[in-house]
Amino acid sequence: MTLPLPTRPGHVHAYLLPGDDGWTIVDTGVGLPDAKDRWASELEQAGGRVARIFVTHFHPDHVGAAADLHELTGAPVYQGALDYAQCELVWGNPAWSERLLEWFSLHGVPDDVTDELVGQSSVYRPFIRYQRDPILMEAGEHLDGWELVDAPGHADGQLCLLEGGILVAADHILGRISPTVGLWPASRADPLGDYLVALARTIELDPTVALPGHGDVIDDPAGRARGLQEHHRIRLEETAAALSSEPRTGYQLSFPLFGEDLKPAARRFAVAETLSHLERLVRVEAAARSEGGGLVTYTAT
Ligand SMILES: [Zn+2]
Repeated sequence: MTLPLPTRPGHVHAYLLPGDDGWTIVDTGVGLPDAKDRWASELEQAGGRVARIFVTHFHPDHVGAAADLHELTGAPVYQGALDYAQCELVWGNPAWSERLLEWFSLHGVPDDVTDELVGQSSVYRPFIRYQRDPILMEAGEHLDGWELVDAPGHADGQLCLLEGGILVAADHILGRISPTVGLWPASRADPLGDYLVALARTIELDPTVALPGHGDVIDDPAGRARGLQEHHRIRLEETAAALSSEPRTGYQLSFPLFGEDLKPAARRFAVAETLSHLERLVRVEAAARSEGGGLVTYTAT
């Protein structure tokens, strides 16, 4: 089922997986004012009952209508334990915007720009109706016969579902766009490192087909995972090449890597993504990080 998204890429897919006791719905879309009506008419067309709702990760377009869908169907909501902890930290926490402001300023974003960046991130806030106290799941567990597969990187606690060669991939691999892999406050320390491991695991699992959160069905998931590994290898090289002996912040380095002309929302992701590449380089001793005077900076080694 394809749901509208007010920002790029303009849509998000949810999936209805058939089972003996009814549908397992994977992901819910944004909790827009008409979310419940839209789901009601889609489910009427699909027929049958909804047995459970599974949220792959806490981003607005995946978790946003979970409470709506629960109210509509009465079905229990399942979500990864780590992912739900981050969901509460970000969406259930009025102090989060403040934390994000401090964090961007620590990475060199000027004050006037920071306000714009954080203002942008609050756009979705009223439309995130996540379900409190879902049933918490871990990778390796099963949900109606589907194995939950750990897919960190795009979100630390993202879980995919795998059965019979079908990978419900959420935003772990996408066909045309490269899923954002950013460093955020309270995210794990090396999200790109986590992502590269998760891609290697996808190649090993070698599913026949992957159903992504956005865009077309992927009929060569392992090949796409290799393509994304290569994309990040090149981006790591470019990031290393942008470094010198002069200390520079993640914000400054986002300009040579992502260009000068970015809207605030895009700059926000550019900074987070630049930082995930820098932290990976720090771990392989191809970059050095230092912190002082309220700023984190990076240099070449
Ligand atoms: Zn996402």
